[in-house]
Amino acid sequence: MNILVINCGSSSLKYQLINSDTEAVLAKGLCERIGIDGSLLTHTPAGKDKVKIETPMPNHTTAIQLVINALTDAGHGVIKSLDEIGAVGHRVVHGGEKFASSVVINDEVMKAIEECNDLAPLHNPANLIGINSCKEIMPNVPMVAVFDTAFHQTMPEKAYLYGLPYEYYEKYKVRRYGFHGTSHDYVSARAAEILGKKREDMKIIVCHLGNGASISAVDHGKCVDTSMGLTPLEGLIMGTRSGDIDPAICDFICQKEGLTPAEMNNVLNKKSGVYGMTGISSDFRDIEAAEAEGNHRAKAALDAFHYRVAKYIGSYVAAMNGVDAIAFTAGVGENNKVGRAEISKYLGYLGTEIDDEKNNVRGEDRVISKDGCKVAMLCVPTNEELAIARQTLELVK
Ligand code: ADP
Repeated sequence: MNILVINCGSSSLKYQLINSDTEAVLAKGLCERIGIDGSLLTHTPAGKDKVKIETPMPNHTTAIQLVINALTDAGHGVIKSLDEIGAVGHRVVHGGEKFASSVVINDEVMKAIEECNDLAPLHNPANLIGINSCKEIMPNVPMVAVFDTAFHQTMPEKAYLYGLPYEYYEKYKVRRYGFHGTSHDYVSARAAEILGKKREDMKIIVCHLGNGASISAVDHGKCVDTSMGLTPLEGLIMGTRSGDIDPAICDFICQKEGLTPAEMNNVLNKKSGVYGMTGISSDFRDIEAAEAEGNHRAKAALDAFHYRVAKYIGSYVAAMNGVDAIAFTAGVGENNKVGRAEISKYLGYLGTEIDDEKNNVRGEDRVISKDGCKVAMLCVPTNEELAIARQTLELVK
């Protein structure tokens, strides 16, 4: 069966068409600037040249129709007609406490996702628009929602409750949810597989280090803690997000700089992290280049980033009373061997040490710690689209 995986943002839409039998990606692409001037569809069919189509996309329904046209095009298409799409898997950011696993989408599910809009006001409405647009164009194709938060729903109360008045949890559901769940689930399962063990027998820490970054503790197959919270702002220092700070800083800076809470929130999400710390870029490659040229702030930001990751690893070793494997994934985790080596320098007490030769990889599944280490370190490229396709197949077959 061919499964169309859709990741819909407010002005963008990423897609992959995956054959579930072979797990091959038949085509992938991206619609940008939906609802804005200069809309662009970049379509990459497997084994053929990439095509760029610049055409107006006033809304997501037009964008999805253009994606279907591209997929079925006589030249750069990969299927003959819409009938060859057996199911659609949608990435949905926030499932609140309602969804602890993926579900087949029906009216009731749509309503429940809408009820989580409050918790992810930038993402969930866009995800719903994507689902509605697909339903319009493919009314008879089954669709599945795969939630970023679902894998983390196994966290115990002690891990998800904040030290806040309990009524905020009762009234507004303010608690830790965590994100990147599809990736943490996929990577922890893959790490166990690479080590030839069962995930149910292991304690695994997954470091998803991309532009957005989070860590999770996966104890015997279940997530018991994760670094992102009510929103993706908490935890690690990220590309543009601050991660953990003293909450009192918000009021202090608002007063000093005359900012509103919404403006402060924007600073924390878009102008902080390694971008704000360096004033250079949110891209770790640019910061590494600046560090190599002797830029102090670049070095300080990278040091702080690695230190924060190492501290979280330590806290999750405590949470699980041990660890068997630590897996690095996402843009930085998969590609940045220097970052992995720097983080590993803090982990000698666990009985693990990086193997420089094995660590000299990019985007490849492999163990990167020395043979015989008590705790294995691994590089495991994440594949959220494949994970979404697998979960979609599971529910519609
Ligand atoms: P997201 O999905 O959160 O946008 P990704 O997982 O795609 O992020 O990661 C993107 C980040 O990965 C970039 O900001 C870049 O800093 C980092 N990255 C990619 N390749 C490399 C590399 N070779 N060395 C260092 N960092 C890299």
